[in-house]
Amino acid sequence: MTAITAATELRSFTLAELQALCQEQGWPAFRAKQLFQWLQQKGAWSFSEMSNIPQSMRDVLAEKYQLAAPQVLKKQCSKDGTTVKWLLEFADGAKIETVLMLYERETARDRATVCVSSQSGCGMGCAFCATGQYKEYRNLTAGEIIAQCLIADKEARERGFNQLTNIVFMGMGEPLLNMDNLKRCILLINDEQGLNIGQRKMTVSTCGIVPRIYELADWNLQIGLAISLHSADAEVRKRLMPKASHYSLNELLEAVHYFREHTGRRVTAEYALFQGVNATVEAAHQLGNLLTGTDILVNIIPANYVEGSEFLPCTAEEQRQFLAILSTYNVSAQVRESRGTDIDAACGQLRRR
Ligand code: SAH
Ligand code: SF4
Repeated sequence: MTAITAATELRSFTLAELQALCQEQGWPAFRAKQLFQWLQQKGAWSFSEMSNIPQSMRDVLAEKYQLAAPQVLKKQCSKDGTTVKWLLEFADGAKIETVLMLYERETARDRATVCVSSQSGCGMGCAFCATGQYKEYRNLTAGEIIAQCLIADKEARERGFNQLTNIVFMGMGEPLLNMDNLKRCILLINDEQGLNIGQRKMTVSTCGIVPRIYELADWNLQIGLAISLHSADAEVRKRLMPKASHYSLNELLEAVHYFREHTGRRVTAEYALFQGVNATVEAAHQLGNLLTGTDILVNIIPANYVEGSEFLPCTAEEQRQFLAILSTYNVSAQVRESRGTDIDAACGQLRRR
């Protein structure tokens, strides 16, 4: 078992850092660019694949450095063929899941979205989430997050898409508790010589780590923000998200407001409807009251049942009623279609098995 550290994991290196490395080793500067392309664009999983790099240089690299190269333990495709899920394992044994969702293959607006994990496991312990049921977790390096995008990009291309188009940080883990690696991977993915995916095509989802939302806004990037709200009632939210509720709803909304003002980007609030808990008539009015006057877009996520959980999905009728009440408050809402439930790839169903 080899521990991966950000300092020696080359897929986390920027071009400038690779250039510095080449200089240090006495290698010509153009090698840095070649390396960067192998790591960020061509998705090389080993140094031996890097055919235009001299063997002597590859030997030095292999001895001193690692590259995030997860092993695919399992790959599943949904029956309708639109969703693919991988169970991946890194060199130290850390496991994660990654999900690719393919939309509208026929049109010019092809969309291939990968849902990446930012941690193996999660320490936030939300009561309704499969990922939150693990006690152990660790941050992923930037390269380990990029590796997931590269795997998804390859799959999308093989299925006739031009490339991977969107990235959502909605897999396992809390991205805002892994800030350095998050920023690094966003910039690397955005790099013209990397996957070259626009910042506006990336969305970070958080359970609401308030100080980190301010920090994220101050990065001055054009990435999108989604907050897992799930309730407008402090007590109910505490039941659902005990640790995230350390920050009050007011503090959370203030942070969202700051992000909105600072980046110009509209924020989404994710809301999974659980029967008798946050899907009631009263809950709909509370949410309407909380969000009216803001331009936060509510994303209704059909709740997914997680084994052993006390929280059950609501009925279609309850969802319809909830939406109807919300619309009376002039709050925009959309229902996110649930993808890949047959392979446990939907929101909150990711676990390391
Ligand atoms: N940790 C981050 C991102 C990963 S979770 C966050 O919490 O936002 C991605 C989304 O799935 C979040 O909105 C989360 O609340 C939601 N989710 C978790 N468990 C779910 C479940 N059982 N049903 C529906 N959505 C769920
Ligand atoms: Fe962690 Fe997000 Fe799941 Fe909560 S919902 S346990 S923050 S992954």
